[in-house]
Amino acid sequence: MKVKAAVMYELNQPLVMEELELDPPGKGEVMIKMAACAICHSDIHAMKGEHGDIKLPAIAGHEICGFVEEVGEGVIYVKKGDKVIASIIPEGCGQCYYCRMGLSSQCTTNKLALYKVGKFVNKKGQRLTQYAGAVAGFAEYATIPEVNLVKVPDDMPEDRACLLACGVISGFGAILYRAKVTANSSVAVVGCGGVGLNAIQGAKYIGAYPIIGVDVKDNKLANAKIFGATHTVNPKAEKDPIKAIFDITYGRGADYVIVAVAGIEILRMGFMMAARDGLVNIIGHGHGEKMTDWTPLDFMGGKRLTGSAMGAVKLRIDIARLIELYKAGRLKLDELVSGHYTFDKINEALVSSEKGDVIRNVIMF
Ligand SMILES: [Zn+2]
Ligand SMILES: [Zn+2]
Repeated sequence: MKVKAAVMYELNQPLVMEELELDPPGKGEVMIKMAACAICHSDIHAMKGEHGDIKLPAIAGHEICGFVEEVGEGVIYVKKGDKVIASIIPEGCGQCYYCRMGLSSQCTTNKLALYKVGKFVNKKGQRLTQYAGAVAGFAEYATIPEVNLVKVPDDMPEDRACLLACGVISGFGAILYRAKVTANSSVAVVGCGGVGLNAIQGAKYIGAYPIIGVDVKDNKLANAKIFGATHTVNPKAEKDPIKAIFDITYGRGADYVIVAVAGIEILRMGFMMAARDGLVNIIGHGHGEKMTDWTPLDFMGGKRLTGSAMGAVKLRIDIARLIELYKAGRLKLDELVSGHYTFDKINEALVSSEKGDVIRNVIMF
């Protein structure tokens, strides 16, 4: 089928709108008619070549909500017309060691992977790379494995639902499912973009205190307050940002530090902000930097350094619960949406997102 898509031919250049041929759904695959796709900062990193080597031409977009258009052989979870989210993290297979352990985010059968040869072919016969692996949202239609889909209720607005595919679960999930933050403990979130804000609202939901937003941009710190930060620290304005965290946490450091922005120096700073026995959870994927400058002594205070992708969620269970929280008014999604753009205006939306003054711009199809 011919579909309109926004294609990456060169790094750091606007996407090119063109007609591509999309594969029909094969075994276990589903064709989705796109309704909304939010722009995540990872898409922008990919388009700048900051997220590993990407074989061009390529297509990005991975915060997807749409409707099932056609199902391939063997698909049982969805039928034509269902409203779905498509996420980069698949549902676990249910059969492997980790799924049986209840850790479906570590499934060894259905793995989260980036940069796959995808389902779109251009007029020159080139098959596009899909930045987000199984999913691609910068197109009117996409063919996606069934295991990457989550059904959502018909009354869930598409521009809100799509945010659950990446930014919300990455932040909220990091708090609930990976760091397993407990009530009354202190949390510092380094990086208050779309993902960091969701870590902050997760910390508030759990009952953490204090909750400290850390960012070099004051507008992002203002957003942090809206999402539940009780304190903020701007490392550019603060002579010693690590000391600032210790001052707020009664001299102990933060029990949990969530690092939601790339950069080894930032990670190091986040680590130094943690309390004895504290846990540091990395959720910013970084730009391929190597970890240096660490010594065994850094870990002698019992600090733990870990990470999570997509909040270590159990995809279909946890997103269903998040939708329930949203409907109950306990999860902020409306406040995450900064602007809506038509698909034709995608390059404008990307420029606006890159500036960092918005939380999420959503492309509406
Ligand atoms: Zn993302
Ligand atoms: Zn599995």
